[in-house]
Amino acid sequence: MQKKEQNPSAQPLSNESNTSDTRPSGVSRPFYDEPSRAPAQSVLSGMRPTGALHLGHYHGALANWVKLQEQYKSYFFVADWHALTTHYESPELIQKNIREMVIDWLAAGIDPERSVLFVQSQVPQHAELHLLLSMCTPLAWLERVPSYKDQQANLNDKDLSTYGFLGYPLLQAADILIYSASWVPVGDDQVPHVELTREVARRFNHLFGREPDFDQRIGQCLKKLQATEIDMLKKSRAAWLESGDTNARDSARQLLRNLVLSPADRQRLSGWIEGAGRQLLQEPQPLLTEASRLPGLDGRKMSKSYGNSIAMRDDPVHLEAKIRKMPTDPARVRRSDPGNPDQCPVWDLHKVYSDESIRSWVREGCNRAAIGCIDCKKPVIDAVQREQSLFYQRAEPFLQHPDRVDDILREGSKLAATAAEQTMVQVREAMGLSPRWF
Ligand code: SF4
Repeated sequence: MQKKEQNPSAQPLSNESNTSDTRPSGVSRPFYDEPSRAPAQSVLSGMRPTGALHLGHYHGALANWVKLQEQYKSYFFVADWHALTTHYESPELIQKNIREMVIDWLAAGIDPERSVLFVQSQVPQHAELHLLLSMCTPLAWLERVPSYKDQQANLNDKDLSTYGFLGYPLLQAADILIYSASWVPVGDDQVPHVELTREVARRFNHLFGREPDFDQRIGQCLKKLQATEIDMLKKSRAAWLESGDTNARDSARQLLRNLVLSPADRQRLSGWIEGAGRQLLQEPQPLLTEASRLPGLDGRKMSKSYGNSIAMRDDPVHLEAKIRKMPTDPARVRRSDPGNPDQCPVWDLHKVYSDESIRSWVREGCNRAAIGCIDCKKPVIDAVQREQSLFYQRAEPFLQHPDRVDDILREGSKLAATAAEQTMVQVREAMGLSPRWF
């Protein structure tokens, strides 16, 4: 039986991530794979431009992004094309929302000096790869993506019988594959999308990674390695291909990741280890991280459309009023009635914002009616206000100079396009579209 792929969130990071430690002093820009160094592992994630974000977005995604940027080469993008797949009739909202949303990314602590922040539509290579992948992706793969039918049913006020909506998981696949993203942070419901991306990459590599002189090229690649490295790769490959030994395969993959190779040599050797051809597109892994789920003020999922959200940069007075008005355990009609925190939406906020000592004070005080609900809400109000004051501080320079946000996105989009073009050069060549033929 094959060993389950390891999730780095539960593991010490591999040596690859240590490449970030070798950044020359004074260089704060994210660096890119160079032939002279092993590539850093990368993550990619995006958000549709929905305008100002709420605390559900922060605790559900952004707080995790902030941690990821410390560990990986990170690409975070504004998914404006994805927004059009469901909101093509209101494009004016998209432009309006981009800046607001990105200010909240920056307020959360996303650092444009460490991460590449960009706008999907400013990197047209995504569309090109989407188009090329669409040539060889079976229609049934897209029709069976669970969210396709679910969303059509849930968003029944919109006409989603469009080619763009059917194809959006393939656009997501292109978003991921074009940066050779190693990891994609997702919730359980998004795992099928990453699995589709892996299938698309495998099919593409199978169709276009075959080279007539592959064995000869592998010989040339191996000549660039040391004898011990060649020996280890050959033994591991044999153990994997002949006995299905996943540990051997993983060791070989790990060694390859740490070797200094050109991208083309790395793709060929990766494919050779798997018993396939050149791996032009790298299969990503889902990164299932534990994101805190912050429910809304009424206990349902936090959502602007439910009117139960707290904006990341809510006015402090407004915020206090909102939390004070929150419903509590319906059994506590009078202050003297004992309550049960498990029946109370305020308790969900304590789970995110309070430490163990406050939580036991709440449990005990609520069960014995020793505290009132206003007392109970106070530590949450204080904690949210503390958190928000940090958001305000970080957002302030960008609110004063919104053109800085545009600069960040412009610069990030250029960096992203450079990285995306590296993949596209190889994809075009493999598909017979290389300009050298003209
Ligand atoms: S004391 Fe706290 S946990 Fe208990 S019902 Fe009131 S607000 Fe909810």
